[in-house]
Amino acid sequence: MVRTMAVMTSGGDAPGMNAGVRAVVRRALDGGMDVYGVFSGYEGLVAGGDAIRPLGWNDVGGILPRGGTFLGTARSERFRTVEGRRQAVKNLCERGIQALVVIGGDGSLMGARVLAEEWQMHCAELGQEAPAEGRAGMPERLHVVGLPGSIDNDLYGTDMSIGADTALNHIVHAIDDLTSTAASHQRTFIVETMGRHCGYLALMGALGGGASWVLVPEEELDLRWHEKMSRAIERARAIGRPHQMVVVAEGARHPDGLPIRTEELKRILAERLGIDVRVTVLGHVQRGGPPSAFDRILATRLGVAAVELLMGAGPEPLCHMVGLQKNRVTTTSLSEVVEKSRAVGRHIDRGNYQEAQRLRGEGFVRTLDLVKTLTRIEPAASRQEEGCVAILTGGADAPGMNTAVSIAARCLLNDGYAVLGVRDAFRGLIAADFQPLEWNQVTGWVNRPSSELGTARHELSGSDLERIARNIQAHHIRGLIAVGGLGAYLNAKRLMEGASSHPALALPLVLIPATIDNNLPCTEFTIGCDTALNNIVQALDKIRHTAGANRRAFVVEVMGRQSGFLALAGALASGAEKAYLPERGISLAELNTDVEALRESFRCGKRMVIYLRNENASRHYTTDFIARLLEEESRGLYQVRTAILGHLQRGGSPTAFDRILACRMGSAAAREMGRLLEEGARDGVALGLRGRGVEAIPLGEALEALDLQAGRPRRQWFLELDSAAQILARSAPSCLVQ
Ligand code: ATP
Repeated sequence: MVRTMAVMTSGGDAPGMNAGVRAVVRRALDGGMDVYGVFSGYEGLVAGGDAIRPLGWNDVGGILPRGGTFLGTARSERFRTVEGRRQAVKNLCERGIQALVVIGGDGSLMGARVLAEEWQMHCAELGQEAPAEGRAGMPERLHVVGLPGSIDNDLYGTDMSIGADTALNHIVHAIDDLTSTAASHQRTFIVETMGRHCGYLALMGALGGGASWVLVPEEELDLRWHEKMSRAIERARAIGRPHQMVVVAEGARHPDGLPIRTEELKRILAERLGIDVRVTVLGHVQRGGPPSAFDRILATRLGVAAVELLMGAGPEPLCHMVGLQKNRVTTTSLSEVVEKSRAVGRHIDRGNYQEAQRLRGEGFVRTLDLVKTLTRIEPAASRQEEGCVAILTGGADAPGMNTAVSIAARCLLNDGYAVLGVRDAFRGLIAADFQPLEWNQVTGWVNRPSSELGTARHELSGSDLERIARNIQAHHIRGLIAVGGLGAYLNAKRLMEGASSHPALALPLVLIPATIDNNLPCTEFTIGCDTALNNIVQALDKIRHTAGANRRAFVVEVMGRQSGFLALAGALASGAEKAYLPERGISLAELNTDVEALRESFRCGKRMVIYLRNENASRHYTTDFIARLLEEESRGLYQVRTAILGHLQRGGSPTAFDRILACRMGSAAAREMGRLLEEGARDGVALGLRGRGVEAIPLGEALEALDLQAGRPRRQWFLELDSAAQILARSAPSCLVQ
């Protein structure tokens, strides 16, 4: 049983590391362990003294929104030497530390592995020097658990590393900002992202930012790549595209392996095309700022998992990394992580690009192909399929809808289909309010908020079906893609059922889940929910800033309809003390406990407490009611305020996560539509992301997974985050005991 452990951050800092440290410290204290913090990475581990000191519950309070790492990090040459590591072992032994959690990149995880491997050797040597009574206290083994912390997202054993999502948000928003200035001046911009051996940031940034060209280290360039790139930019200008954006990873290489410099790219384009080219190296901006909601939740989940792994540790020393694969926490041995992560770099160095891409995974290769399709000036297919495919955005608008429409339309056009946009959702189908969607028109939609096609809530009736059937025939619509929420799913069902009386309605139908509520069946994430979550978390960070002289409790109401995703994930990412969810409802007994907990928190010294309430958590215990109740019971200990976040939650341009999800779903929708049309099938399918990548699920099966009465899926994966949220956000247990 591990009784004493330490946590440290190492290598380059990454946003979200603080959330990881907070989760490790609080979960460990909650489990009865003593926890040390190691300051300044391995350098602190070697230095010992005050650089390794106990951490208490409140030491990690208020750090969730902070970028960087409050423990500090450093690159340590001393730790690379055997003598340095021996000193580190001595420092750990002196404090009886039996386990170490390291948050960092592959170098840091390599260091952790070496330390664990050498532990007994160093202990034996130190034991000979130590007095007999000192030897008894030396831990026989050191358990090490790594957490992937690196903005590059270059680690094997996890789909995302802590910090990558925040960095990607910086990149796509920087591209958005540059796009507007580039368009005003008809300029071409070259944007350099981080990533020495990994093109993830550049590739996803190019996809989410709608770039014109991308250069990544994993791709072998042919000898004429300058010509191809210049020609693409030239043609884009010729057809009147207002701006061009070339995204290049810092590790991109020439065919001979030499690095591609941004100044060289600028010279090539300026000399060949005689145009105004500007370079922006994003540099350390990518690492900075508050972590995104995703990074906070990722780091929290992994931090909790690392401690729980240690709690179950047996006699065999642990030497693992916890990562997130397909939205599940997984464990991989550190040797495999380090070996496979570094192998990609080695393959690139040797010019073995195919192998490098294979190790990056199928998703990376697919994305590279997709980016190349999207950067085309015109569709590849000359053949025009008969009829057309219609696309609509249904229900309430969600950030990322435009991205999905843009990608689905271009993928279909690329395969030779004509595409018809339907204005104002199902109402447009009834009124035949259509507009042809053209390649260059939808290209600029990738980053736009809301929906260009327009959305509307409308429940289809019998007479609607008849008119829709007529319009489908008249406009030769062969298939329909609906991007939307619950209302769109139910209307799709009505259309399919209507086919028995209106044969024209028997057409392939593909649903793309898009709603901020994350309440759709057979998918763990819907397009839009990440943007809404980030909007909520940013608002809550600001509310926390208002904690001044007065002690305040806030009751904050968030959207989500009958799904508690936004409330629960918002609480986990912001450190809110409580989340009222529609799945659980609210009882009087619970409110009683919450009043007591609130009073206790302020007695323990808290200055600000936030209770999040989903808009439908209870019919009668409204936000206002809860606020009044808390106020009445405050007895001068605190004041109460309410904040209803309302529509700001669905506003703004989509986050990187939503854009990438929308790109994946949009291209999958086009692929699925093509397949159904080729097979002559008349099926309805809903796209979903359930751990295994984007899948097409028969509409009937998807609706089966829905509890129509409750207005949400029967199974909601995110409820498993509840216990972590409750443990981590409460007041220091020691204070409550007093
Ligand atoms: P990033 O992805 O941001 O570069 P990183 O963790 O890979 O993060 P590195 O500088 O490679 O960053 O490693 C951080 C520290 O880990 C090094 O300064 C060193 O102290 C330790 N370390 C790296 N490799 C080894 C090794 N082979 N043996 C012992 N210690 C190592």
